[in-house]
Amino acid sequence: MADSTTLSNTEVEAQYDEYLPPIWKQLHVPVKHASGATIEDFDGNEYLDAFSGISVTNVGHTNDAVVDAAKDQLEDVIHGCSYVHPNAPVGDLAERLATETPGDLQKTFFCNSGTEAVEGAIKLARKYTGNTEILALEMGFHGRTLGSLALTGNSAYKNGMAPTLNDVVHAEPPYTYRCLSCGDEGCTADCADHIERVIGTQTADDLAAIVVEPVMGEGGIIVPPEGWLKRVQEIAHAHDAVLIVDEVQTGYGRTGEFWAIDHFDVVPDVLTQAKGIANGLPLGAFTARSEIADAFGSGDHLSTFGGNPVACAAALATIDELHNGAIENARTQGEWLAAELAELEAAFDVVGQARGLGLMQGLELVDPTAEGPRGVAPAPDSKLATNVSDRLRENGIIVGVGGYYSNVLRLQPPLTIDRAQLERIVSAIREALNAEVDQ
Ligand code: PMP
Repeated sequence: MADSTTLSNTEVEAQYDEYLPPIWKQLHVPVKHASGATIEDFDGNEYLDAFSGISVTNVGHTNDAVVDAAKDQLEDVIHGCSYVHPNAPVGDLAERLATETPGDLQKTFFCNSGTEAVEGAIKLARKYTGNTEILALEMGFHGRTLGSLALTGNSAYKNGMAPTLNDVVHAEPPYTYRCLSCGDEGCTADCADHIERVIGTQTADDLAAIVVEPVMGEGGIIVPPEGWLKRVQEIAHAHDAVLIVDEVQTGYGRTGEFWAIDHFDVVPDVLTQAKGIANGLPLGAFTARSEIADAFGSGDHLSTFGGNPVACAAALATIDELHNGAIENARTQGEWLAAELAELEAAFDVVGQARGLGLMQGLELVDPTAEGPRGVAPAPDSKLATNVSDRLRENGIIVGVGGYYSNVLRLQPPLTIDRAQLERIVSAIREALNAEVDQ
C-alpha cells in the first residue's frame, strides 16, 4: 500500500486508473488535505473550494469542532447497530432535529446517504397513506438507487438502468427562466397547477407522495416562485398524499436559513436530509410528524450502519457550528455573492441568468447568438460551462457544473468562506468568462 504522505498527484491518479471505475475520476483534483474552504493536492497546489464536495462540508473542511466531536466519540463507541443498542449521539441528534425542523416534525429515521433517505421516505409515504404512486419533478434529482432514480427527472442518469420503480410520474419544475407553459411574465405559484394536470392525466389518483427539492440543485439552482411550494403541498394533501421535501442538498444552512423551506413558510410532512448533516461523515436522515413516522411497523425499514454514533456526534457539532455564525455568514456572503453574479449577468451576454439563495448560487450560461422560446437564449451546444469550470480549476478554483442542459455554473462553497476568498472566486469567474468569449 502506498504511503499517502509521499504520494504525488500522478501516483494517486494511477491508482484510480487501475483500481477504480472511470466514473470515479471526474474533477481531477486529488485531495491530500483540506481545511476551511481550501484544498491541497499531493503536489502542494492549493485550490479554493467553491463546491464543498457537492454541498457537504458546510462548516468548512476538517472543522475543528466536528473533528474533536468525532474523535471523542471514536473512543466511546463506534458501532453498535443503533436500532439495537440505543446510544447517546443518536438520541441527542434525533431530539435536536425535532427542534431544528419546523412545526410538528418530530421523529427521525437515520441512514447513510441522501438516496437512502429518499428511499426510506417513499416507503414511509406508501405505508402511511396506503397509496402507491409518487409524483416528482422533471429535471429534479433525488439519487441513483432504483427507487430514487425513478424520481430523478433526467434520463442521463437512467440510461441503461431501467426498469426503475413503477408508478412514478413527473410534472414541470418551477424553472421560471425557461418555463415552457408560462408567458412572458414567467412562473407564479399557479405553475404548480401543472401538477394537478399530471395527476389527472397520468395517474390512477392513488398518490402516496409528491417529492420536490425546495431549490433544485443538480437541476441548475432553480428557485421556485413565491407561493409555489405551499400550493404543491395543498395539492398533495387534496389527494391524500404527503409532501416530501428533499433537503439533501439545501439543508444545513446552505441557503442562508437552516432549511430552504424556511424561505417558503412550509412545513412538509417528511423532510429528507444528508450531505451537510455531518459535514462529510456519511449520514442521511428523514424526519416526519410522529403520526407518519409511527406508520413503520417492526421490520419495515432498518439500516445496520444508519445513525452511526460517530457520524451523529459529528452532526451535533456541525449543527452547533451552523448556529455559531456559519448560517449568518451564508446569508451575508450569499447576498454579496448574488449581487456580484447579477453584475456578471449584466456584463456578459453568455450569462443568461444569475440566481440562487444564500451560498447556493448559479450562473446559467446561454448562446447569445440564438433566440429560444419567449426570447430566452437557448443553452449553448458547446461545453461552455465545463470549459469555464476547467479554466477555473487551472486557476485554483473549484466550482460545480449542473442543470438539465449542463450549462449552469454552481457556486456552493463552505458557509464559513470569507469575503476575500469570494472576491477571488468572482474575479476568477470574470476572467474565465472573458477568456472563453474572446476565443
Ligand atoms: N437528493 C438530492 C436533492 C441531492 O442533491 C442528492 C445528491 N446530489 C441526493 C438526493 C442523493 O444523495 P447521495 O449522493 O448522498 O445518495
